[in-house]
Amino acid sequence: MGRRQAVSAKKPGRAMPKKPAARAKRVKPWSSAEVAEAFRRFAKANPQPKGELEHVNPYTLLVAVVLSAQATDAGVNKATRPLFARVDTPQKMLALGENKLREAIKTIGLYRNKAKNVIALTERLVAEHGGQVPRSREALEALPGVGRKTANVVLNIAFGEPTIAVDTHLFRVANRTGLAPGKTPREVEDGLQAVVPDRYKHHAHHWLILHGRYVCKARAPDCPKCLINDLCRWPEKRV
Ligand code: SF4
Repeated sequence: MGRRQAVSAKKPGRAMPKKPAARAKRVKPWSSAEVAEAFRRFAKANPQPKGELEHVNPYTLLVAVVLSAQATDAGVNKATRPLFARVDTPQKMLALGENKLREAIKTIGLYRNKAKNVIALTERLVAEHGGQVPRSREALEALPGVGRKTANVVLNIAFGEPTIAVDTHLFRVANRTGLAPGKTPREVEDGLQAVVPDRYKHHAHHWLILHGRYVCKARAPDCPKCLINDLCRWPEKRV
């Protein structure tokens, strides 16, 4: 991954709205044929989906996802674009140091704590993983500031694993549509893993996050333009 790339990664999956889950309980589950049809349409419309969080290699991907908690991708990119142009390895990050990193990311919410975590996780990468991002959920989640969602994004994008990271957009779409209702991000993740056909799992996170961000928006879902309008179980959808 030598060139600048983009990936979806949004807010952490803790405080999710309860309303969609309550609604989704009342709807009929999707059949496997309906789920396959939905993803067939997503794949046809966007065969190689890309997110919007910029990075240049697995290390900068990990850093960008950590920085994206409770922040917008656009806001993170604005800070990381100049940062990653000169600091793209753990060694360079440690040479930069926490104070200068804090200054570089001060436009991002919670930047003080995030700078501390990035330096701490970078020290761990160098000390325990030879400066490489580990291809292991357990090792990733043991790093400071890295939770399940971040690990899922890194495993998916950097290593091609069929993980599905559940952020606020996926949580809303999965519950609203009835595709994989759940009260917590983990319930939704497990539900998606159970219903999404294997051949679509690698890109499922990106298709759903982009769908949630640009079509099935929180306040004003654009149902008339929705690819899966006929399949969606949301009682309030606009036909
Ligand atoms: S029909 Fe509306 S509510 Fe259902 S998935 Fe599409 S945009 Fe979302």
